[in-house]
Amino acid sequence: MKYEHMPREPLGFFPTPLVELTKLSKKLDGPKIYMKRDDNTGLALGGNKTRKLEFIIGDALAQGADTIVTAGAAQSNHCRQTAAAAASLGLECHLVLGGQEPDKFDGNLLLDKIFGCKIHWSGTNRKGEDIPEIVEHLKKSGKKPYVVPYGGSNELGALAFLEAFKELESQRKNINASFTHIVFASSSGGTHAGLMLGNKLFKSSYKIMGINIDKGETDQISFDQYIVSLANSTAKLIGENLKFSDVDLMLNSDYVGEGYGVVGALENEAISITAQTEGILLDPVYTGRAMGGLIDMIRNGKIKKTDSVLFWHTGGAPALFAYSNDLDAAKKST
Ligand SMILES: *Cc1c(COP(=O)(O)O)cnc(C)c1O
Repeated sequence: MKYEHMPREPLGFFPTPLVELTKLSKKLDGPKIYMKRDDNTGLALGGNKTRKLEFIIGDALAQGADTIVTAGAAQSNHCRQTAAAAASLGLECHLVLGGQEPDKFDGNLLLDKIFGCKIHWSGTNRKGEDIPEIVEHLKKSGKKPYVVPYGGSNELGALAFLEAFKELESQRKNINASFTHIVFASSSGGTHAGLMLGNKLFKSSYKIMGINIDKGETDQISFDQYIVSLANSTAKLIGENLKFSDVDLMLNSDYVGEGYGVVGALENEAISITAQTEGILLDPVYTGRAMGGLIDMIRNGKIKKTDSVLFWHTGGAPALFAYSNDLDAAKKST
């Protein structure tokens, strides 16, 4: 593999813990459940974007950038981790956030401000459509901007999850565990593509099951096609002759509900069960939905007691505070 020599900037603490959730399994009368704790990557309250940013920011520095530009939702975990990475390296950071400036800065958005980045509100252009204009402006003022893609999902971001797959495999062997499924929240596709690549490259036969978080489309092509093409282009980048097609993709869209960031009973139950059995915080947008999906698949028999599931905790808990209005736990007892 060619990528061992690619620029990489250390930003987090790795390996993240691999733990077994015995009390959650028992509560659900379900299979063995393990959790990969990427909520503990160590950069600014953690999350899966830290892994991607090690490669992406490494590339930015190699290209001589002095300014980082990226986009996301107002409560983007990706933007918060990017803001922290930029701050730690003395890079200027511009975030292009969907929607309007709110009255109150809360959750991830509060942290973005604490990290001192510049925020551009982009209204309905919530996936970085305004970036080219901002980049032009920065160039004219003498800056060297570098654009981090939406969600950090390009080949470098996916590569980080090939690395993560290797990290998981070495931990799994140490504790003599076996998995049938890897379940995680999938939203901009980099995590998914990287894990698919690892699964094929190392000839594991896990069901790499992404729980779709966002109904959205990526540049007119469907999210399914996007993940498959990213897995292919990442394989190409590292000089591996692997070909992915639709049959390699497991993307479960049963739990998108009313769309991105619309928090309902599924997420609420998953957050409280996981907190109350294991003392672990999930988030309302991503991991709460993915765990809600896993719980449902255990209850409806799609995942059997004899299976063994690795749930990849991709972070996100800072958003709990911003979404408190949607959380049962925030309601007054009557
Ligand atoms: C970004 C994110 C995801 C999704 O990862 P992608 O690689 O963008 O699909 C999942 N969980 C959390 C908490 C995230 O911030």
